[in-house]
Amino acid sequence: MQKFTYHCHTDFSDGTSSVEEMIKRAVELGFTEIGITDHIEVHKNIETSPERELVISKGWDRIHKSKFSELNPAINQHIKTIREVAKKYPIDVLVGFEVDFFCYDKWLEGFNEFRKDLDIDYLISGNHFTTTPDNENVIFATSIDKYSENEEDARQYIRTHFSNIKKAIESGIFSFIAHLDFIRWSGAVGEFDYKDERMELIEALAKTGTPTEINTKGIKSIGDFYPAQWMLKEMNVRKIPIVISDDAHHTSQVGIHFDKAEEMLEAINYKHRFNLKHLIK
Ligand SMILES: [Zn+2]
Ligand SMILES: [Zn+2]
Repeated sequence: MQKFTYHCHTDFSDGTSSVEEMIKRAVELGFTEIGITDHIEVHKNIETSPERELVISKGWDRIHKSKFSELNPAINQHIKTIREVAKKYPIDVLVGFEVDFFCYDKWLEGFNEFRKDLDIDYLISGNHFTTTPDNENVIFATSIDKYSENEEDARQYIRTHFSNIKKAIESGIFSFIAHLDFIRWSGAVGEFDYKDERMELIEALAKTGTPTEINTKGIKSIGDFYPAQWMLKEMNVRKIPIVISDDAHHTSQVGIHFDKAEEMLEAINYKHRFNLKHLIK
């Protein structure tokens, strides 16, 4: 069974365990590596999002910013904390971030400028938001039904969500792409819906040689892995490398359902796996 995880969160973003608690738990489980990937959510209009009150009540406004520069100095302190705690434990610890990718002018430029000074090992893209097609209004992808006035509105939010992920893949800056069909959590996209858009993501991964994950957090949120099994089968044909991710937000979720994911990959004869060993300093 896979004994490492590259996708987990701490109380720096929306997790509820500390950096040290997460690392300690991975050691207890006999893991050889843990990558901490707290969220980076920067969109120019995020502070006027209809969910702003919820974000503030949860304390997520620390990482929901309208400018990358506003993430400092907290983000550098967080990275330093991870590096310091890592020294105390017999496990390889990687520092990464899970980034929501947006497509308005200057977003990528701003992010590239920001990340060049960060002491990090890798980045993953994970889109939890969607926007109107003009990129101006940003909402949680899980709230599509709530903020769509009609079906066409909802369709546009969904299509924009998928096209943002495609552009994240094509950017070439991510070591892997998280939960490709996370939007199923919204209830607005079923297991087999938006097949063309989802196939486009798979083709983009294949074309760019970008890995992705099988995310076990879906078991809790939708009773299935992200992505759906039919997508994994298409990915297998195209030899797309994957990793199992727990997307843990608490120590009790580190390595959760890895056994089930292994069983499923075995059942569909998925052969293409990867690790990030080459990143360890
Ligand atoms: Zn995520
Ligand atoms: Zn995550």
